[in-house]
Amino acid sequence: MVIKLRLCSSAAPSSLEALQVDGHFSFVQNEFAARDFGNQFHFLPSAVLHPKSVSDIATTIRHVWQVGPGSELTVAVRGHGHSVQGQAQAPQGIVINMKSLKGQGMQVHTGKFPHVDVSAGELWIDILQECLKFGLAPKSWTDYLHLTVGGTLSNAGISGQAFRHGPQISNIDQLEVVTGKGEVVICSEEQNADLFHGVLGGLGQFGIITRAKIPLEPAPKMVKWIRVLYSDFDTFARDQERLISAENTFDYVEGLVIVNKTGLIHNWRSSFNPQDPAKASRFISDRRTLFCLELTKNFNPENADKIEQEIATILSELNYIASTLFMSEVQYIEFLDRVHSAERKLRSKGLWDLPHPWLNLLVPKSKIHNFAEVVFGNILRDTNNGPVLVYPMNKYRWNNKTSAVLPEEDIFYMVAFLPHAIPSSMQNDGLQFLISLNNRILDFCKTAQLGVKKYLPYYTTQEEWKEHFGPQWEVFLRRKSAYDPLAILAPGQRIFHKAI
Ligand code: FAD
Repeated sequence: MVIKLRLCSSAAPSSLEALQVDGHFSFVQNEFAARDFGNQFHFLPSAVLHPKSVSDIATTIRHVWQVGPGSELTVAVRGHGHSVQGQAQAPQGIVINMKSLKGQGMQVHTGKFPHVDVSAGELWIDILQECLKFGLAPKSWTDYLHLTVGGTLSNAGISGQAFRHGPQISNIDQLEVVTGKGEVVICSEEQNADLFHGVLGGLGQFGIITRAKIPLEPAPKMVKWIRVLYSDFDTFARDQERLISAENTFDYVEGLVIVNKTGLIHNWRSSFNPQDPAKASRFISDRRTLFCLELTKNFNPENADKIEQEIATILSELNYIASTLFMSEVQYIEFLDRVHSAERKLRSKGLWDLPHPWLNLLVPKSKIHNFAEVVFGNILRDTNNGPVLVYPMNKYRWNNKTSAVLPEEDIFYMVAFLPHAIPSSMQNDGLQFLISLNNRILDFCKTAQLGVKKYLPYYTTQEEWKEHFGPQWEVFLRRKSAYDPLAILAPGQRIFHKAI
């Protein structure tokens, strides 16, 4: 059942009005801070801070810290508000709107160790655009770039590059963090490492990330973008695992499950070219369950021929349905910002601001076949109102000191169910139906003891959180009492409750 609650704003905490800040607090018209991409939870804060400096954030946190446990005030940071279950909301508390720090001194450093120094309120798309001016780019991405640095680093930040480079939280040189006591701390692998590891994947529990230093690599100009189809999950998974373990491989490996769709290949034709048009036109996708492997290879125009040969060699070792090889060639930025094009189309049809009952799971390699058989073969009836992604990652690319929670095996799969729901519908695109589908998937994972972990986790009781963290719970608790002992931060995650 979805909790849809709208709390009334309590009287504006008059003590906040007296605080000296460079930015400002707003006490009315804060409805935006009670919304997120999930569009299922709506908790109104008492105040929103629009900071103009890091010291505004530290001043506010110190104020709440000094008021002490007697007050129920909590603080949530809002990046771009693309959480799906109210994680960036603060019922009757203070929301810090990180976007008002955007644009404050993004600095690209070229040289031997190129990196960019950014405010955590920056969107990844803006960072990419700035870095490309210097021929550079970060290495690890999310599928969608209109998310803030602080928002993705509080989770992990994963996409089809993670098998090679690790998640975004494995690609950070240094952070500036304001702790739950209002201290401003610089941290890295070498300096205040416990806080550094804690906030990476830390669900906003130990501090507010205010700046990040992100290492860069030379950016390619172009991308060869490839799609091939499989009718058999085992062959699809075997090829994916081969690609993420090989030396000579692609730069990006993802996959999609396609259930009960018609005209699939016809739709691709607007942007992808079949390698063999005659054979491709005879391929009929209708209503079967298919698995699409999506791959890219980066290149610069001067080495296009060499890259084509490399691609042909790697593809020759794969076992996809031969007539279903489709290719496209796009600029690097166009590929990385691809979901934004989908966003524009969905917005034009009024399908972007709907509720999003998303479910993201990390499934151990040894259990993915059982998972696929039951979930893709049985529970999932169609994938017509949102993509279902499936792709494997290598655990050794993740730093095991961070707060991110992973399955126990060396290879695990990201399985993401990303539907939008039509609120009034009682059909299989309705919110209640999709939530019950998610519950069936979760029940199956639990009963079959698959060792699955939720990505972008959402739980409502501390018992469930303890089970989620498993052996990492003790470290998580210790870090909470060290850096945010009053449980002021990120109440929307529902892990800790401020003692009053
Ligand atoms: P918000 O929703 O604003 O905040 C998320 C959480 O982080 C909150 O608890 C908030 O308090 C906390 N937080 C935010 N900023 C900070 C900060 N500076 N310091 C401390 N805590 C902070 N994720 C992936 O890994 N890969 C993907 O490919 C991917 N694709 C997505 C596509 C779409 C369309 C959407 C909506 C989400 C996607 N996500 C993906 C999930 C996304 O990474 C997370 O939801 C992320 O938290 C959103 O960033 P945000 O800036 O909107 O954060």
